[in-house]
Amino acid sequence: MNISDLVSAELRRLEETKTFKFETALQSAQDGVVRVNGKEVVMLASNNYLGMSNHPVVKKAAIDGIRKYGYGVASARFLCGTQTIHRQLEKKISQFVGSEDSILFSSSFAANIGFFAALANEKMGFESYKDVIYSDRLNHASIIDGQRLCRPEVTDKLIYEHANADHLEQLLDADKEKEYRLRVIATDGVFSMEGDMAPLSRLVELAKRYNAILFIDDAHGIGVVGRTGRGSAEHLGVLGKIDVLIGTLGKAIGGAAGGFISGSSEMVSYLRQKARTYVFSNSLPPSIVTATMAAFDLLAKDKTIVKRLHDHTAYFRNEIKGLGFKIIDGTHPIVPIMLGEASVAQEMSAALLKEGVYIKGLWFPVVPKGEARLRAQVSAALKRKDIDRALESFKKVGKRMGVI
Ligand SMILES: *Cc1c(COP(=O)(O)O)cnc(C)c1O
Repeated sequence: MNISDLVSAELRRLEETKTFKFETALQSAQDGVVRVNGKEVVMLASNNYLGMSNHPVVKKAAIDGIRKYGYGVASARFLCGTQTIHRQLEKKISQFVGSEDSILFSSSFAANIGFFAALANEKMGFESYKDVIYSDRLNHASIIDGQRLCRPEVTDKLIYEHANADHLEQLLDADKEKEYRLRVIATDGVFSMEGDMAPLSRLVELAKRYNAILFIDDAHGIGVVGRTGRGSAEHLGVLGKIDVLIGTLGKAIGGAAGGFISGSSEMVSYLRQKARTYVFSNSLPPSIVTATMAAFDLLAKDKTIVKRLHDHTAYFRNEIKGLGFKIIDGTHPIVPIMLGEASVAQEMSAALLKEGVYIKGLWFPVVPKGEARLRAQVSAALKRKDIDRALESFKKVGKRMGVI
């Protein structure tokens, strides 16, 4: 079959099933208000939770980083791609999350791809062995893909019901006599479709009881939840009790690119030797490293940023409910506004863009049938008047469409 026939049929199928992803080009920087189609619109769809994507302090640090350390390092870390600033940032991240050490990756996708195969596929002197990974049903694509690199001959992969610690306990208990070399419990800290969190205190307890290591990917948690923005572990009172913590630098913390894994010094040393997305891939560019350090410093120094995010979130959740919209309750800035049918979500996000609000819809197969929704993401980059303007548009469009 020629490639054109092959892909055009699949593209048609995506369009027919309304799963084709359209890209709308912003004509401005990412911020609380952005320019689209020549119009200023309130942004409710970005992961720019702390408003650092276009923050003057962060931008200046990036430019200073280029001036002092250059544009790129043109090397993997172990060849000549480690600058003093890479180690400084790794120390800063470790201090922030309360771990012994941290290791940087080019993205958190790369971190997840590197992590699982580095452990489960390595014999480490064992003649024969078997590892097991227990995963939450709704885990992020990069956690799933990371595990796909683990060969089934040596790695059992089990799925537990979403955020269901009782189900996980049953699975762990059923396996407890088996002679696994390594047991891993893997979950997102915050789930991006619902804005809900993993039951971390139960998971910490189960990991201890069944001698498993606890892996949390807190991409939507770091910088976002917890009183000082330290993530799901802070919010749920288990800071420093996570064996393997993944975070991204591509969301709240600057929003450019990069990811990290934090944990014990030994595990981090080991990953520097074995994680293939670290060993065989380029080092993070200096501008991102210096800007990320500035972002962490800003977060530590200016306590009003996280507080503004949390206040805005509480305000938006309360007001949108007050208008008569049905949302999934919670505390996270991800606020799913439930609409039911996919066509309603599609029509409403298009109408809102015309009314000055940028928001994305999600529908089957991304979420279950009949649970189509708009996903609002609140940001500290917003001013109260931007939120009010968005709420006005929600009211107008919601009434017109008979949703409220
Ligand atoms: C966004 C996200 C990622 C990917 O992050 P990048 O750093 O952009 O690769 C990984 N895991 C989770 C849970 C995410 O939400």
